[in-house]
Amino acid sequence: MDAEAESRTGSAAHRRTADYSRFTISAVGPTAGESVVQMAQQQAGRTRGNGDPVPAAGSAFLRVTDLVKSFGSFTALKHISLDVRAGEFVCFLGPSGCGKTTLLRAIAGLDPQNGGTIHQNGRDITHAPVAGRDFGIVFQSYALFPHLTVERNVGYGLVNRQRGKAEIAARVRELLALVGLHDQGHKYPVQLSGGQQQRVALARALATSPSLLLLDEPLSALDARVRVRLRDEIKALQRRLGVTTIMVTHDQEEALAMADRIVVMNEGLIEQVGTPAEVYRHPTTPFVADFVGAMTFLDAEISGPKRLRLGEAEISCSDDRGLMQGTPVRIGLRPEEIRVRNVDGMTPNRLSTHVAFIDFLGSFCRARLELEADRSVALTADFSANLMRDLKVEEGQMLTVALPPESLRVFAKAS
Ligand code: ATP
Repeated sequence: MDAEAESRTGSAAHRRTADYSRFTISAVGPTAGESVVQMAQQQAGRTRGNGDPVPAAGSAFLRVTDLVKSFGSFTALKHISLDVRAGEFVCFLGPSGCGKTTLLRAIAGLDPQNGGTIHQNGRDITHAPVAGRDFGIVFQSYALFPHLTVERNVGYGLVNRQRGKAEIAARVRELLALVGLHDQGHKYPVQLSGGQQQRVALARALATSPSLLLLDEPLSALDARVRVRLRDEIKALQRRLGVTTIMVTHDQEEALAMADRIVVMNEGLIEQVGTPAEVYRHPTTPFVADFVGAMTFLDAEISGPKRLRLGEAEISCSDDRGLMQGTPVRIGLRPEEIRVRNVDGMTPNRLSTHVAFIDFLGSFCRARLELEADRSVALTADFSANLMRDLKVEEGQMLTVALPPESLRVFAKAS
């Protein structure tokens, strides 16, 4: 089944195993002597190359405008607009079914949208056929050709473009070295580990020097250790090549570790776009606060300017979002932000709590702290091993903690 046919079936199993190697055919390959790195940097607009438009650093390399995608009566993408800058590493992050893969596939032309436009490098590709677009793609399931050696898998797209044998051999060698597999070219996919197979898939996606690299959950089929190692390798390689990259993941840790910017999606909409630090520290919606990192939510009410009523307690916050007195709100607080050391009479937002239980999680402990004034209100707090030892925190004891005003994220309850 070819990729366009499989995309029409919409079958989940097939959706991730397309033969994509021919999709990168519009990229301009390197001339003899050019290195993979030089070529990729030219494609990414970092150096001047073959006269193609060179996007200014920081300008929109990929522009998605008002994109709508429906499957029957179900709308999977609801008017998505997004700019991706040249050379950026962007992650689409969100729970299963939020539309991440659908958006990636629309950008690739594999599942054409019902409305909206897509521009890449200044070119309107909204209705361009898959083969007329310039991207390389890696799927979760590797999608290598089992009957071809590693070398032939990597060189497949170049053979399709009728490049000379010597040129292909040189380029395949260079790509395999780039992904740390210089001595594995003679093997078949079945003779490789999952991590090695995914490196081959990456080399194959890069073979034609696409200006856009699309990664659809490339790490999720791998075990935890390999996943962490490969994610570091992919990030380093992306930085080195400067190729604009979009990766789909549902793993927030992966997105925080790899992305320059994260696009958090929920139910076919973009909730927030920001750097990992922005998304983690300043989530703009309760969904983002909850999905990215751990967050305790407490019900409260605005009791005055930058003042909150939390049960019996009156506390302060540094940003009340201009909400009126009496507005019911949810306060979000990260477990590592609860302060225990150096809490005295001068510390704002002191609360007396009861340590209900402590989970030992290796390098740190996670505690449930119930407010003394109302035991039904609980905070989740992370304590380092040092803190546990120094303060001798134990289950059942009373503990005075403080909620730093600048750590309290206030969300209107309806949002
Ligand atoms: P996951 O992480 O589970 O892959 P996702 O965020 O990538 O999730 P999508 O695969 O983009 O989600 O799917 C978004 C929504 O569109 C889901 O509700 C899904 O069931 C639906 N959907 C996707 N493809 C099709 C299709 N071919 N036909 C019908 N519905 C589809």
